[in-house]
Amino acid sequence: MGETFVVVGGDAAGMSAASKAKRDAPEVDAVVFEKGDWVSYSACGMPYYIEGSVESLSDLVAVDPREFVEERDIDLRLRHEVTGIDPERETVTVRNERGSFDQPYDSLLIATGARATAPPVAGTDLGCVFTLRSLDEARAIREAAERSEANGDAPREPVGPDRKPPEEADPDEDVSAFLRARDPAVVGIVGGGYVGLELADALYERGLEVHLFQRSPHVLGPYADAVAEVVENHLRDRGVRLHLGTPVTGLAGDADVSAVETPDGSVPVDMAILGTGVAPNVELAAEAGVRLGGTGAIATDPYNRTNLDDVYAAGDCAEVQHLITDAPTYVPLALTANRHGRAVGRTVAGRPTKGGGVVGTAVAKVMELEVARTGLTDPDEARDAGFEPVERTITTGSRASYDPGRAPITIHVAADAPTGRLLGASMVGADRVAKRIDTVATALHAGMTLDEVERLDLSYAPPFSPVWDPVLTAAKVLNGALPE
Ligand SMILES: Cc1cc2nc3c(=O)[nH]c(=O)nc-3n(C[C@H](O)[C@H](O)[C@H](O)COP(=O)(O)OP(=O)(O)OC[C@H]3O[C@@H](n4cnc5c(N)ncnc54)[C@H](O)[C@@H]3O)c2cc1C
Repeated sequence: MGETFVVVGGDAAGMSAASKAKRDAPEVDAVVFEKGDWVSYSACGMPYYIEGSVESLSDLVAVDPREFVEERDIDLRLRHEVTGIDPERETVTVRNERGSFDQPYDSLLIATGARATAPPVAGTDLGCVFTLRSLDEARAIREAAERSEANGDAPREPVGPDRKPPEEADPDEDVSAFLRARDPAVVGIVGGGYVGLELADALYERGLEVHLFQRSPHVLGPYADAVAEVVENHLRDRGVRLHLGTPVTGLAGDADVSAVETPDGSVPVDMAILGTGVAPNVELAAEAGVRLGGTGAIATDPYNRTNLDDVYAAGDCAEVQHLITDAPTYVPLALTANRHGRAVGRTVAGRPTKGGGVVGTAVAKVMELEVARTGLTDPDEARDAGFEPVERTITTGSRASYDPGRAPITIHVAADAPTGRLLGASMVGADRVAKRIDTVATALHAGMTLDEVERLDLSYAPPFSPVWDPVLTAAKVLNGALPE
């Protein structure tokens, strides 16, 4: 019998680790405990399922659970929650519907992910208030939206306070069944980050009237204002009601939400979605003595080891090294979870492997626009890390001037004035922004200066880019602004 590798959490980080360990060292016994019903699912695809472009929830499951068991020989236990870790005895306590038991481990991976957080205001526990983290929550939101669509051609009339009470709704039923009996037409989305914007897009496409509330003056906090303004103008043009610089002070209603309250007044809604951020699931680890870092997530070394012997952490529950600031950071994204999980699997299989740092690269679709960022785009953050940021924003065309597919692209780029080192960029446009950000991310990984970025040999043909790709143009403009 081989070593026992126990994994807590069966999504991106956990299943990547178990799969890699088994592939590289088939003699390892890999046991995965997942407290829910789903494993290896794409949370990132949930907005598209809600919008309707992804047909079924099962389309979001990357690998069927049976494949893990039958083909990869992983001992996968669904609906098994790990409730305690005893690092002295090297066991975890597991609860399932039949009771509790202890499971010994030789190596343990904590891959418990993150959860959506609610803002500290009254009313977030009302009915028809949702967060979006699990597939079950995605199903409930889509059912609510589909009900709206089925209710005819005039869904954009606000109906909050005048909506007739549902005839057959039973508040004791589960939320999905309850929502099937509702006809929401107006949604209030709290938070203008990725989840809030992707849901604004999805629910608008579904025919709901969308109100989006953002506490700060602009959506997309880590983006340059000029980039965020392009997104805001696009949302407004399409009919989304933006409430910027507007903190939500509460959600009102009796059993169900009926209004979003702000200092400017009350906005009637039929449902509300909280897109106000995530918090790492660290309680299980912390109770066992695992050290947390300054961000509140689990502190790890480059091999994803925690302070406890034989205990690793990876994915949305853990910190990761920022390659520009050289400090631990918390950037809970899917590629990092997969990459770090896989690295832990290799380590457990006998080949110690680093997960690698991040530069904070992210991209999202907001209606027709692609918005993306990487690196340090906030001058305060750059100064805190010891840099002297200088920045410029350009707007140029995505392709040759005569190409019919050309669309404007706005790029904000930042560099360190004394050294010329590229620090980061954010960008928005309707044509190929998503891939252009990867050029910048790669340059950041290589620690390039603006001089070096300007001389990159990038591809050109009229249907794809101007002769000078917009990334090169942005680097040239900023390079010209550096002090001699
Ligand atoms: C709406 C949405 C859109 C997103 N879009 C993108 C995107 O476009 N790009 C991107 O890079 N990232 C995106 N993400 C983030 C991405 O989904 C996460 O980074 C990724 O899922 C993290 O994987 P993970 O395995 O670390 O954690 P999770 O996916 O959170 O999985 C953790 C698992 O652990 C289980 N668990 C927790 N505690 C226990 C316990 N005690 N016992 C047993 N099981 C337990 C949970 O049930 C869960 O299944 C999005 C997330 C959301 C919610």
